[in-house]
Amino acid sequence: MNVLLVYAHPEPRSLNGSLRDFSINRLEEAGHVVQVSDLYTMNWKAVLDANDSTVHEAGARFDPAADSKHAFEHGLQSADIEREQDKLRWADTVILQFPLWWFSMPAILKGWVERVYAYGFGYGVGEHSDVRWGDRYGEGTLAGKRAMLVVTAGGWESHYGPRGINGPIDDLLFPIHHGVLYYPGFDVLPPFVLYRTGRMDSERFARTCAELGKRLDDLGKTQPIAFRPQNAGAYEIPALTLRPDVATDQVGFAVHVA
Ligand code: FAD
Repeated sequence: MNVLLVYAHPEPRSLNGSLRDFSINRLEEAGHVVQVSDLYTMNWKAVLDANDSTVHEAGARFDPAADSKHAFEHGLQSADIEREQDKLRWADTVILQFPLWWFSMPAILKGWVERVYAYGFGYGVGEHSDVRWGDRYGEGTLAGKRAMLVVTAGGWESHYGPRGINGPIDDLLFPIHHGVLYYPGFDVLPPFVLYRTGRMDSERFARTCAELGKRLDDLGKTQPIAFRPQNAGAYEIPALTLRPDVATDQVGFAVHVA
């Protein structure tokens, strides 16, 4: 299959750099075709602004959503955005790899999402009316593709456990899993999270590679997280709250997983 690895770490000799190299080799050995968007090496522009369209009238008010829509529909997006969209169209599976920085992805990767997910591509897809909120959460441009996070964290696994002080890792990653990946249509695989990165040596690195390698070998057959599709009846229209008989009396992120 075609695999796109979107990688965000500023130092190639880092732990993340080693894991990236391992993943590329493993995937290619298995016969997959791999493209890498190495955001720091590409000097990726992280900020979404008026320059994201090749035509912007000087002095005109910049509207992030409307200008994105116009640029997407009229072939006026900047070339770096178009290239990344083409890579996403090409990919069967997308891996986002990054160190957990302040409980989320590094800014450069957030900026990749903000700019590449244009209006009409990442959002604003399908019918939007009083009775339908578009093709999203399980439908959309990237439907049929798989995505997985590879995340490294300094904190211990227990810090991210169900009662851990940092909050459960599934909750912290929910905005990325459900918002960034499921929203435009991806089937989202459980993440590969490596904790306590400060305690790494060659022996643990070998073990980590074995575990990650297994996940990469299983990319095509791993069961995705069972997020509830928006347009399959679980949510009331137009409020888009879960029906009372679904996950009754439960609240929080977990209710959106069947
Ligand atoms: P590196 O620092 O490159 O390496 C980590 C260790 O692995 C080092 O001991 C190194 O010698 C060793 N190593 C590297 N390569 C190899 C190899 N090939 N074989 C064997 N050993 C190797 N953590 C959290 O948990 N939550 C947060 O919210 C959070 N926020 C952060 C915010 C910022 C701005 C920063 C800088 C860090 C934050 N951290 C946080 C910690 C961060 O997640 C970790 O520092 C990061 O995940 C480690 O990955 P790295 O690639 O930078 O590792």
